[in-house]
Amino acid sequence: MTSRRIFSVHSESTPRAELIEACKNLLDDQRRSWPQCGEGYAALESIRVKEIACRGFSVHLQFNPKRIVSTGAKVDAAAIRQRLCFLCEDNLPAQQRGILYRNEFLILCNPAPIFHQHFTVSLTRHQPQVWEPFLDPFFALSKDLGPIYSVFYNGAKCGASAPDHAHVQVCPKDAIPVEKDARDPRRRKKFFDRGSTAILTLKEYGRPTLVFESTDAIELKVIVRRLLAAAQQVLGIADEPMLNAICTYRDGVWRLIVFLRSKHRPESYFKEGAEQLFVSPAAVDIGGLIVTPREQDFERLDVPTVENLFDEVCLAPQVVEQIAGLIQ
Ligand SMILES: [Zn+2]
Repeated sequence: MTSRRIFSVHSESTPRAELIEACKNLLDDQRRSWPQCGEGYAALESIRVKEIACRGFSVHLQFNPKRIVSTGAKVDAAAIRQRLCFLCEDNLPAQQRGILYRNEFLILCNPAPIFHQHFTVSLTRHQPQVWEPFLDPFFALSKDLGPIYSVFYNGAKCGASAPDHAHVQVCPKDAIPVEKDARDPRRRKKFFDRGSTAILTLKEYGRPTLVFESTDAIELKVIVRRLLAAAQQVLGIADEPMLNAICTYRDGVWRLIVFLRSKHRPESYFKEGAEQLFVSPAAVDIGGLIVTPREQDFERLDVPTVENLFDEVCLAPQVVEQIAGLIQ
């Protein structure tokens, strides 16, 4: 990592408050000094949002034209081989800088934000997007940013626009609706406890949702590994199961929300003309904030379309329950 890229350095011994301050300062700096980033945030001022009340839950829609690149990203192996990796240092825009975190991650501003603060945290070396090897820093980052941010992960085959380069994203806490919904006592249904970790689901939520709450990151890591192994067993696969995960930390507790997926994009994504639904669901969308870069999709999405979309791209509830049962 060349020094001109490094905005500041955060190690395990640096006070947490300094990291949060550094993130805000980085964003201020990049909005001023990097035109693409400045324009991306300026465009956020004119996005449109609306709420759709489905059966038992609501989602928010965000019409955000700047997200067209991500929604339209070609993520198949051939396309990935043919393009330069946009998270590798050599290919970052000249003005882009980041916070070196724990010596192996770079916290970068996302130039096409969904949120008023939106960061991408990428590994400083080119290595495929897989969650399990990075669970320790994932939970550490969630805790370090916990006072005001959440951290989320998109699997290589269900939302990551750089499936070849390990990364997570950061957004303001509670900006993804499922975070608040997961705290609603009327919605919470506990499956079981395992050690100091509670494993729950959310009732009437339109997509099977697993919630893990733990005071112990090491134990939580073990449970996530069991979840991954259980999903592989039930689905008969060797690769990482398709999943999106959102993690928050407050009052000494990690709350990890996991959506297990059956496919990345709905069939209607690949249709043409009026039949095409141009949404590419990842953690934010399945978490209840559906991003539509085209206005016609923003206008068209209604209760049945949203409910069918979740049904189509998430694993069936009984399969998720079977997987959860194996963690116990
Ligand atoms: Zn790379």
